[in-house]
Amino acid sequence: MVEEKMKIRHDWTKEELLNIYKRPLLDLVYTAATVHRSWHRADEVQLSTLLSVKTGGCPEDCAYCGQAARYHTDSPVHALLPTETVLAHAKRAQEKGSTRFCMAAAWRAVRDNRDFDRVVDMVKAVNGLGMEVCCTLGMLSAQQAKRLQEAGLYAYNHNLDSSADYYGHIISTRTFADRLQTIGHVRQAGLTVCSGGIIGLGESSADRVAMLCTLATMEEHPESVPINALSRVAGTPLADQPKVDIWDMVRTIATARIAMPKSLVRLSAGRMEMSEHEQAWCFMAGANSIFTGEGAKLLVTPNPDMDDDLTMLAKLGLKPMRSDRS
Ligand code: SF4
Repeated sequence: MVEEKMKIRHDWTKEELLNIYKRPLLDLVYTAATVHRSWHRADEVQLSTLLSVKTGGCPEDCAYCGQAARYHTDSPVHALLPTETVLAHAKRAQEKGSTRFCMAAAWRAVRDNRDFDRVVDMVKAVNGLGMEVCCTLGMLSAQQAKRLQEAGLYAYNHNLDSSADYYGHIISTRTFADRLQTIGHVRQAGLTVCSGGIIGLGESSADRVAMLCTLATMEEHPESVPINALSRVAGTPLADQPKVDIWDMVRTIATARIAMPKSLVRLSAGRMEMSEHEQAWCFMAGANSIFTGEGAKLLVTPNPDMDDDLTMLAKLGLKPMRSDRS
């Protein structure tokens, strides 16, 4: 492992990563914590605030998502927020220590229309605050990615969700190859990539590892790798899935940390169902970023309140990470 700590590898195999994932738990966490400490300050956690700027009514059929129009859920629906509202959210997040602000719109793909013009204006406005601006807007053409980059976008989120083999079990309205194509457009435009997946969709350990392997064998690793635990939303096809086992989260985070040492590994959705002790294990396994959401919401699912997060981090001896931009 000493050599693996010293260099970034892009030639991982699924077998190698599955062997890492299946290592005795404490050994796995110790190795991941060691890799974490050789690439990052282990007392820092990036705070990334996520705001849904356009909620619900999505034509896609992602089986986990409360925003898909075809499922009968209690999730709210609202049109694109005014830029001033978004900017006010971003300012409040920044005052509390957030360095990254991610704007999410429940679209299948970006269309070249007035709404996209307005998102471009939002990117310019939040960029003006000095925050790292991220968007997650669905599929994106090369030209649209470039336009966002020119407006000051820093990162684009586009999760793989699961392995190529399992993808068709959770989404039928687009393909795994579509995902990779958008990530390619994001890279070509000179943006940083935020891409990860979801645990608890009914996938196997091999699927989790295959998803990580796709990310870890990219020419450049995603700069951010969100690992989400399924938030079970009533009315969606995955509402009755069992709760994600914390050790599965810890193993997935640790494997991501070892395979992509330089990336920020984000403990994302599902924290509401985790105790502080469980989250501490995830930080020990190499997670060094969390999503915070205003109003204790992460898009349409519950999330810890940001003040509670700051209290938890202080208790664990962790502090908000400074941005390269600050
Ligand atoms: S995850 Fe995104 S693309 Fe899929 S249904 Fe929800 S909002 Fe639409």
